[in-house]
Amino acid sequence: MTTVLNPATEEVIAEFDSAGVEETDAAVARAKAAYPAWREVAPGDRARLLRRLASLVEEHQEELAQIESRNVGKPIAGARGEVGMVAQVFHYYAGAVDKHFGETIPVAGGVDMTFREPLGVVGLITPWNFPLNIASWKLGPALACGNAVVLKPAELTPLSALRLAELALEAGIPEGVLNVVVGKGSVAGQRLIEHPDVAKIGFTGSTEVGQQVMRGAAGTIKRVTLELGGKSANVVFADADLERAAATAPYAVFDNAGQDCCARSRILVERSVYDRFLDYLVEATRNIRVGDPADEATEMGPLISAAHRETVASFVTDDVRLAFRGEAPEGQGFWFPCTVAEARPEDRIAREEVFGPVVAVIPFADEAEAVRLANDSPYGLSGSIWTENGARAFRVARAIETGVLSINSNSSVRVSTPFGGYKQSGFGRELGMHALEGYSEVKNVFYSI
Ligand code: NAD
Repeated sequence: MTTVLNPATEEVIAEFDSAGVEETDAAVARAKAAYPAWREVAPGDRARLLRRLASLVEEHQEELAQIESRNVGKPIAGARGEVGMVAQVFHYYAGAVDKHFGETIPVAGGVDMTFREPLGVVGLITPWNFPLNIASWKLGPALACGNAVVLKPAELTPLSALRLAELALEAGIPEGVLNVVVGKGSVAGQRLIEHPDVAKIGFTGSTEVGQQVMRGAAGTIKRVTLELGGKSANVVFADADLERAAATAPYAVFDNAGQDCCARSRILVERSVYDRFLDYLVEATRNIRVGDPADEATEMGPLISAAHRETVASFVTDDVRLAFRGEAPEGQGFWFPCTVAEARPEDRIAREEVFGPVVAVIPFADEAEAVRLANDSPYGLSGSIWTENGARAFRVARAIETGVLSINSNSSVRVSTPFGGYKQSGFGRELGMHALEGYSEVKNVFYSI
């Protein structure tokens, strides 16, 4: 049984029989049966169907945002923005269907050409922190390339994926092309990973489970793309617009209650401005409005579950040097306050992904040390650089081993630009035209003349 809670109130909002191996196999069989006809749909028609899905998401924006807000504890204003992005993702990949094509290559004795072909049935396994967004980042390119899909959302947050599948049918996407199985990762997810009829796994989640995905996929040489954890650095130089860097830094780590793979959960600050920056940062953090996700003014809601709150709390031990600890509602709900800690690079709080509203602030002496500290992590997903010196900004951007960086900004995600990690943050890229590479094969055909 899968029990779905509202993390702000702890009330049960849905219950499902969890899909086991049999139900997962049935979903794969439906996808396999639907695939031959789906891949033959004319590109213009496939584009039209995706465009219709995008429009339906727009029409149902409020409903989907309410589902996401209640199931994840997201502030409603942010949830609306996320659903807006989901629609944009489907619009983008509707437009990409007929712009992803092969080449002709000069060779002796004939014509050589390449084709982009779908993989077949792909399994998509997604986390609970941005359920609908992350599903759309995979569904958009997978469907645009002509694959049939089995999506396994996180068991804590399956509601928006189930509603999206209904909207896909309403849009005219044929039955069997987009299937959702609600079940445990270790059962339904594992079965997808090992299933001989699944050609690829698109996975977003923890690095630990990502390792299991790679191992499991080895048996059938499945393609995998992995979007995993992060411990991204927000690097603030003394010549930055310090007030702006500090005013925006809390949102770069406390957004979604810190449950964000891109969270800039290490703030590295040049020592000469460290104290001033910390004062600004604490002030800005104090102003974050924590509370009822349904309230339009709320900026931060609860954590996803009681178990996750325990994990987050385990980082804030007595020896942690707190610069600030905010307030959070008492009583029902998995609340945790915004927490700013002064840390050393070797501290656990500065090394491991907390995935909660906890930030580690660390001083550095010069540019070389800033780069060394930023790279001193097994992860490499995102990050920010704040400086008014353009040459330094690019020097540091090229030196940091991470997939997505922003200069004088903390935004990582755009529909049309590639997103993904270095090192143990995973491999493969989502979003933009790059994502299509992960959902297609290149076939090479030589024609002798
Ligand atoms: P998780 O790894 O526990 O679960 C992710 C998904 O994998 C869920 O659907 C889960 O049911 C499934 N799963 C769990 N065990 C499985 C198994 N043995 N076989 C197959 N599937 C299995 O992650 P989570 O707790 O849901 O999400 C938080 C993590 O996700 C964080 O580490 C975060 O950094 C990461 N994340 C990464 C990105 C990114 O794009 N890089 C985005 C969001 C979240």
